[in-house]
Parts: sequence; C-alpha cells; structure tokens
Amino acid sequence: MNYIHNHLPTDKLQALDAAHHIHPFSDMGDLNARGTRVITRADGAYIWDSDGNKLLDGMAGLWCVNVGYGRKELVDVATNQMMQLPYYNSFFQSTNVPAIELSAKLAELAPGDLNHVFYAGSGSEANDTNIRMARHYWASLGKPSKKVIISRHNAYHGSTVAAASLGGMAFMHAQGGLPIPDISHIAQPYWYAEGGDLSPEEFGLKCAQELEAEIERLGEDKVAAFIGEPIQGAGGVIIPPETYWPEIQRICDKYEILLIADEVICGFGRTGNWFGSQTFNIRPDIMTIAKGLSSGYLPIGGSMVSDHVAEVLAQKGGEFAHGYTYSGHPVAAAVALENLRILDEEKIVERASNEIAPYLKDKWLDLANHPLVGEARICGMVAGLELTPDKTARAPFKTPLGTAGNICRDFAIENGLVMRAVRDGLIISPPLVLTKPQVDELAEKVGRVLDQAHAKMRQEGML
Ligand SMILES: *Cc1c(COP(=O)(O)O)cnc(C)c1O
Repeated sequence: MNYIHNHLPTDKLQALDAAHHIHPFSDMGDLNARGTRVITRADGAYIWDSDGNKLLDGMAGLWCVNVGYGRKELVDVATNQMMQLPYYNSFFQSTNVPAIELSAKLAELAPGDLNHVFYAGSGSEANDTNIRMARHYWASLGKPSKKVIISRHNAYHGSTVAAASLGGMAFMHAQGGLPIPDISHIAQPYWYAEGGDLSPEEFGLKCAQELEAEIERLGEDKVAAFIGEPIQGAGGVIIPPETYWPEIQRICDKYEILLIADEVICGFGRTGNWFGSQTFNIRPDIMTIAKGLSSGYLPIGGSMVSDHVAEVLAQKGGEFAHGYTYSGHPVAAAVALENLRILDEEKIVERASNEIAPYLKDKWLDLANHPLVGEARICGMVAGLELTPDKTARAPFKTPLGTAGNICRDFAIENGLVMRAVRDGLIISPPLVLTKPQVDELAEKVGRVLDQAHAKMRQEGML
C-alpha cells in the first residue's frame, strides 16, 4: 500500500494541505481559508479535481504539458529507465546514455549552432547557470569586468535568488533582498499598456533602442549579455512588435554581447515553430529550456550553448565550478527524449502550427469585439486578452489592479476552464494537442466568461 490517499474526501485533503503544505506564489492565509483545488487526474487536455469536476486546461499545467496528459509512452520510458539506471551523476568524468542521446537530439532541433547543453533541474536553475556561464565566458576571454546582464522590466526568468533578480518583477524584488548586483533592467515592449500614442512599430523600436542606451551608459566593457523571453509569458503574454527583436539582435551584434533567449515557455512548439527564436528570427548565443522539454512529466531544464561559446569555455575556461546533483538526470533525460520523439514523429508542432493555431487565432481575435476586451493577441498556441472599461482609450479599471482579471478567472473555473489572470488580463497556453472541437469549447467558454464578468462588473459599478 502506498502513501497517496486519493480516497480521502476533499475537505480532509484540504485540511491536511492547509496544515502542512506551503504553496508557491500564494498568500497562505487567504489560500488556507479558501481551500485549495485538489487535482487528482488528467487526460489529454483535461484535468479533474477531487470532487469530479472536469476542467479544460487552458494553461497546459504551467505552460508545460505540450503533448497533453496521459501519454503512456512517457510512463513506460521512465519505468524502464528507473529499472536500468535510476540515477547517476555527470560530475566526475561520467555520463549516461539518455543524457547523451537527449543532447544530440536537442542539438539537431535547436536553431543555428546551439549544439551543446548544460543540464539543470528547472528553468530557474538554468538561468542561474546562464549568469555564471556568461560571466565566466568573458572572464575566460580576459574581460572579467564584463559582468552586467541586461534584462527587462516585467520579465520572468524564474524564482531563485539569481533568476528572480534577472526577472523584472517588482513584487518579487520586494522580498528577500533582491536583486543581486550587476543586473540591469530596460523597458519591456508592452505596447498595449505603455505604447501611448506611438504605433506598435515605433514603440518596439524605441524599447529595443533602450538596450543600446543602457550599454552606452554602463560602458561596453561592463556588459556581458542581454536576456529576453521571445514572448514574455508570466508577464502577460506580451508579444513584441515586429520591429523589436531585429533591433535587439542588431545591437547585440554591434556590441558583441551575448544574446540569451529564455525559451522556457516559447520552446518546443508554443509559438508555431520549435523555438520562439525561429518565430522571431533571433540568433541566440545561449538558450534557456525547461517546461515543454519534458512536457512537465518530470523536472528538467537546461542551457543550450552555441559552438563559439562552448569552444571558448572548453579551450580557455578551465573547470567551470558549477553543476547540480540532478544535471543530466537519466530518468528525466529519457522522458524528455521520448517527449521530443512524440512531438517530432507525431508532427504535433507542425499540426498545432498549421491547423490548430490558425483556427484558434480566428476565434481568439473575434473576442476583441467583446465590450470588455481592449486587445486580443495571439502567436501560435499562446494568447492574451486585455480587459478594459473603455476600449478606445485602452483605459485601466478604477478598481485595484487584478480585480477585473480575477473576476474572469473565477468565472472561468465555474465554467470548467483553467485560464490565468495577469493584472487585468487573461492568458491561455493550452496543450499543443488541442483538437478543433476543444478550440470551439475553449472559445465558447471564454465568451461566456466575458459575458458573465461584464454583467457582474456593471452591477458593481466597475464600468
Ligand atoms: C517558468 C519560467 C522559468 C522558470 O522555470 P522553473 O522551472 O519554474 O524554474 C524561467 N523562464 C521562463 C520564461 C519561465 O516561463
């Protein structure tokens, strides 16, 4: 008999959870009073809670279950690998077969000459690695003063001390003594909220040019790298104007600073290509991967590194004094490799891109006609809505930020749909295996949620 008590009633499970389990990104006083939702099983694009409610998972877990739930091949691969070799380290002149094969497959799939992988257990850890690796790269070239990593306000790069410092979330910096030194933040290309009277194209260019100004301000000899998510995910699915990334790339090339693309969400098919860097024509020197790498079935992340960075480290770097017990974990690597096989052989990325994403796009952009929606934006299988009491002015609500978003989020759950609220906006990032009838269900539910929220907001005088 194992220790997992799925037979307990929901209120008992919630009581135990409240007594003993501290949740990430949660106000525990509030959460314990409300009671957590206990998720007990999942299949395809759906999850079920302990009361038997079925929900369409519009977030693919936490942006990660790209192949959908319930893929037995991933279970079998994990079982077999655990029998064969459940763990061994990659520290002391050792390696393992799944880590070798996964690295070769990733090199084949990744754009450009990103042919090398340093493994981590998560996206946060991988970004910690990136900070140290970028600085160590410059030190190896005799330029140890090149330390500053330039990032953006409202970026999300993870939650460890270093990754949260790299991120630009003010509410995270406010706790625990962040940020660490030698990280700097420039504007995000968030036209809807910050673009004012500029066109999206003008605004995109202006935001990107802040990178050049910041390099000039700090001095080129101080700057190691720029990091950005091709599309900001947790920040609210912020899809940059077309002018943005080409200008960032130009500036990184001009000053020869490393470009780090954080592909933790965008990677593995989310934006319509295997990587967001392909969608936006970015040529990263380092790429952060996690989440969709294993479709979330086991924790694994990593840094993909270009030939020239790997060469400098190999020829001049000496020992890179960095690594994790679970770097290249054989079971996680085996599951990730099988996940890539499924994505590849079943043409899930192509099908999502060619058939499902365009179908979803039509329906999603239609939502912009709703009186509550200020903007609908979508790229591949990730999308966002901005809520507003006044469409033409892109006006914010007068209620505290997040009130309108949370009203919609709660109606979504009531309607059997998981959707996330960011500020007064809504975002989705569904499994890539969504079918057309499931897209219909999703769009229909979002429409209903907006209607219900609209009625409630009118009642409460928010409009
Ligand atoms: C989720 C996320 C991370 C952090 O990954 P964890 O596995 O939660 O540590 C980093 N970067 C981006 C863009 C993310 O979305």
